[in-house]
Amino acid sequence: MTSSNVLLKPPLLEVAAQLFKQIREATDDGVGVTRESYGRGETIALNLLADFATQQGLLCRFDQGANLIITLPEQPVGQHIIIGSHLDSVPQGGNFDGLAGVVAGILILLHIKALPPSQQKPVQVLALRGEESAWFGKAYMGSLALLGKLTAEDLNLKARDTGQPLREAMTALNISIDKIEQGEPLIELANVAAYLELHIEQGPIMVARKWPIASVSGIRGNIRHNRITCKGETGHSGAVPRWMRKDAVLACAELLSHLDEHWRVLQQMGMDLVMTCGIFSTNSASHALSVIPGEVQFSFEVRSQDTATLEQFYQLMKSECQDISRSRGVEFVFDRKLYTAPALMSEDWVNKISMACEQLDIKTEIVASGAGHDAAVFANAGIPSGMIFIRNEHGSHNPHEAMDLKDFFLGVQALHIAIHS
Ligand SMILES: [Zn+2]
Repeated sequence: MTSSNVLLKPPLLEVAAQLFKQIREATDDGVGVTRESYGRGETIALNLLADFATQQGLLCRFDQGANLIITLPEQPVGQHIIIGSHLDSVPQGGNFDGLAGVVAGILILLHIKALPPSQQKPVQVLALRGEESAWFGKAYMGSLALLGKLTAEDLNLKARDTGQPLREAMTALNISIDKIEQGEPLIELANVAAYLELHIEQGPIMVARKWPIASVSGIRGNIRHNRITCKGETGHSGAVPRWMRKDAVLACAELLSHLDEHWRVLQQMGMDLVMTCGIFSTNSASHALSVIPGEVQFSFEVRSQDTATLEQFYQLMKSECQDISRSRGVEFVFDRKLYTAPALMSEDWVNKISMACEQLDIKTEIVASGAGHDAAVFANAGIPSGMIFIRNEHGSHNPHEAMDLKDFFLGVQALHIAIHS
């Protein structure tokens, strides 16, 4: 271990506890926390962190997307590493989603600030706005705007609570709308060496496996249909024999059980895959106990870190639909196919973070992220990216998120070691 990667001192853990408490109280909504994208709670959190960082002798400024950038008072020259995450939350959300990553960055900056200048790495903390899709129906607005990828159509999206278009909410914060509309990046991409994000895990794997922290291999992309309609034929449930039926529910049940089996096999072969049919319904206006169901509407979603796996599973679904159409006399009608590209973390950073875990003597494995994160936007823009997950109980996007501060501190240490390796 060189002198520059000596571990962060425990008093910094106290600093983190105070910041989490202060921001939770300031954005408390009575149930959880509410930090609206490009709105009130998000701005409160940004300002509190800016005040704190300034008091500590760090330099704060807001970029052209009204995100907060925190740096050392004298930023070392050369390309810099960004440690970033978001400060908005879902309505009645949890305190750690997003905020943990920004607080982690601040702790690392405070630690680096105390090192001799020759050992200071060029690190910037980026507290992003607008990551949650809950407010405007669009995720990653802050990072997309920064990288010149937020569209004019996106800017017309309206807030779920106030109906205010995103364009107006951004203008009120003095954000450079003209540049965003023209697709101009708001940061100098050539100056960015890497984007690193620490985030709570939003699924149950790490708690179940007893891994306090983990390096993330990538962020799953997806293929979705909001609505697939299976059209069969209604009939009297007592009068029509099995061979003459066109039962839409049984057709869909067969489809889903076949897909579940394909999923099991592909996963056994080592492929990264999750499939969900979250909406499944007969027509409530006409369905009845004694009527053979003539129509089912359902949603389809497959997620994977691998583009080829996504497409392969999608084609399996389509071919199953064809087979079942023939055998059961039904028809499947698809709405628009929606695609979100997966994002792989850079192998170099995945390894550095894994090695840092090893150095800290932590038993863990590399995990895939099922949930989306700003790191996906940076990775897909060609910036080498890495993520570290912190164990968290009770899921996320709810007030019951439970991250142990000891786990958080291990994650910050690992991130720090990885940066200095
Ligand atoms: Zn998040």
